[in-house]
Parts: sequence; structure tokens; C-alpha cells
Amino acid sequence: MSTTRQPPFLPPTTLGVMGGGQLGRMFAHAAQAMGYKVAVLDPATDSPAGQAANQLIAAGYTDDTGLAALAAECVAVTTEFENVPANSLALLGDRVFVAPSASCVSIAQDRVLEKRFFVDCAQHSGVMPAPHQVIASAADIDAIPDELLPGILKTVRMGYDGKGQVRVASRADVHAAFAAMGGVICLLEKMLPLAYEVSVLTARGHDGESVVYPIAENVHRDGILFTTTVPGPNVSAACAARAQDAARAIVAQLGYVGVLCIEFFVLEDGSLVVNEMAPRPHNSGHYTIDACVSSQFAQQVRAMARLPLGDVRQHSPAVMLNILGDVWFEDGSDTAREPAWEQVLALPGACLHLYGKEEARRGRKMGHITFVAPTLAQAQEQLREACAILGIAL
Ligand code: ATP
Ligand code: MG
Repeated sequence: MSTTRQPPFLPPTTLGVMGGGQLGRMFAHAAQAMGYKVAVLDPATDSPAGQAANQLIAAGYTDDTGLAALAAECVAVTTEFENVPANSLALLGDRVFVAPSASCVSIAQDRVLEKRFFVDCAQHSGVMPAPHQVIASAADIDAIPDELLPGILKTVRMGYDGKGQVRVASRADVHAAFAAMGGVICLLEKMLPLAYEVSVLTARGHDGESVVYPIAENVHRDGILFTTTVPGPNVSAACAARAQDAARAIVAQLGYVGVLCIEFFVLEDGSLVVNEMAPRPHNSGHYTIDACVSSQFAQQVRAMARLPLGDVRQHSPAVMLNILGDVWFEDGSDTAREPAWEQVLALPGACLHLYGKEEARRGRKMGHITFVAPTLAQAQEQLREACAILGIAL
């Protein structure tokens, strides 16, 4: 499904980013490596992306003056966080090229719209989401079919890193959890027997060309991504092909432009279930910086600048380890310490990425390390050694 290619935005024009987090920071690095300038809009004056940007527009995400300044500065704008106000992207879209579009982002922001899209798309993708039901009132809870329990109650909006989720075993649990969430609209999802979790990173150009990265196997801890391993030790060739075909269908059905990451569950019986999608580069795609020809951030630059997409080929097996603020504290205490980066960096193939965040807090994403090696076994051995150095239990 190819349409006409429009003229590209060439360097040294300025590309804009909504949001100042680490994804914006790594985007800025990739854009600058290609000769672009980067403007970041974020209310914080010292943010990971703001530190890396050529220009920081310190304004709220819905601030008209700030948005006008961003549009005036940039040839194209993207977002680095999922919960960017879709209206702001729509406003920007009236003035400059915005990728991904406000309409695609608004589907990914809302679990109800997202699930509906996945169901509608299943005839093309061959994959369904988990059985689910919208919970907007206490009466909805009484009407839940028994098969949905035990389940997970998730807020429809603003959930991330497992926040806004409660596991529920009974109808009484659902009532209590729904009340505890303040009665905001929620989705009850059936708890599925997961064998493992995978994600597929895709990118699609404005002309309909798309690319799909190798499938990544993800391990979460306390709702936060812990490691990503590519190639995934549990992933069969057939499963990878099914997930990649599904990703291609999903990105095409959305008419998406930019990088999109789709999370899937692989169940104990081997079946594939689509979980959610992130309309931006994704934590599980950080390995692409060190292990692929074109990183997910370089790919985002190419897509929004209307350039040909880059080569997604992986040249080394890789394991990515998220570095949370916990490693700045002595085991189980509040005593601060500096992680022994010099020991980690002595490991062959260890690529350290820190996001420039001043304050280390437990559970806060501070950086990541990607271990690349000639074999996956060697990369996994480097992971084990690094975890021993940093005091991370494996
Ligand atoms: P993210 O950080 O990826 O944005 P999130 O907070 O949006 O996460 P989900 O990805 O929906 O939430 O869920 C977080 C994790 O909870 C999943 O990676 C999975 O381990 C588990 N989980 C979610 N839904 C289900 C389900 N229906 N059955 C079993 N486990 C689930
Ligand atoms: Mg998720």
C-alpha cells in the first residue's frame, strides 16, 4: 500500500518534540547525528530531552503560545510520550507535519478505543486482544460475565509502567478496586496465562512503506520493564512471523506515520494476544541503538522527515537492562551510593545510557545498559555480571 512520496525535510531544519523525557533525549541525539536541530517543548526547564535539545520551549503541553512557538520553529513535530494532549497535536498538525497524527495517538491513549481498534483489525492482523469489558459504573460490575474473573482492572487513560492497574479475583474485589480508583472509567481484562511477553517495533513512512524490527522478548518486574532480549530465547520462528505480520497489518490499518511499538502476550498454549501499542519509540526498542543498523530513534527521524526508512537489520544479539533509581541506594536502605559504572563499562559489549536525571528515586527509570556480543549466551553472561556489580537480583 504505497502512496506518493512528498518532498523530505532535509537537515539542518529543526524537528520538534512534545515532551522532555528520555525518549526525547535519545531522539535528539539521533536527529543531531543526522544534522538536524531539535526543539523540545516541556514545562520543566531541566529535563532529559531539554538538556540535549538545541532549543527548549519551556511551556505546558496545552499552552497556545508554546505550541505556536514550536510550530514556528519546526518543519515537523513528533511526541515522545503517549499521554500528550491529542488536541495539541491536532493544533500543531494544522501548521506543520505531525507524525504520528493526533488521531493515531488518541486511539493509543485510550484503552477502550485501542481494544476496539484491535478487535476491528483482527480480520487483518489475525490477533485478538484479551477478553475485556468497560466498567463505567457499579452496575457494569454486576453485569460482568464470570469468565472475566480473575482479571485486571485498568484505568482507561493515563496508565503506564503498571500504574493504574489492580488485580481482582472476585466481583467484590472489582467493586473495591473501582471505588479506590475514584470511579474513573476502567476496563476489566481477563487474567490470561502468560508464557512470556514480546513486543514488535515497527515504523511506517508517509508513503505507506513500513519496516518491522526483530521481535523482542520482555521481562517485567513490578509492572516495569526489566530486560529485553533479542532474539528472544522463548520465541519460535512461527510465533515471530505471526507477531510481525500482525504488526504490519496494525500499522497499515492505522495509516500510521512514525515508530509504533506493539506489545503481545504469548499464552501457555502458544496463542498470541495483542496487549497494547505505544505511539512512539519504546523502552523495549532501546536495544536497537547498539544492536541494529538504524535505531528506533533514527527511524523516527526518518519517518517524520519523510525520508526513506532505515535498515532494521540486527547485527548483534542483545540484552537490554533497565537501570532504575534503586541502584543508587545500598541494599534495602536509604543510604545513597554511586553505582560502579567503571566496573560495568569494563565488561566487553556493555553500552551505558544514562538520561541525565538529577534525582535517583526507587522505581524511576534513570538509564539502561545494552549488552551486545557475538552470541546471545555471551550477552546474557555480561548481563549477569553487571547485575552482580550493581546489586540487582536476577
Ligand atoms: P506499560 O508500561 O507497558 O505502558 P501498562 O501499565 O500500560 O504498561 P499493560 O502493558 O497493560 O500496562 O500491563 C502491564 C503488565 O501487566 C503486562 O506487561 C503483563 O505482564 C501484565 N498484564 C497486563 N494485562 C494482563 C492480562 N490480561 N493477563 C495477564 N497479565 C497481564
Ligand atoms: Mg504494557
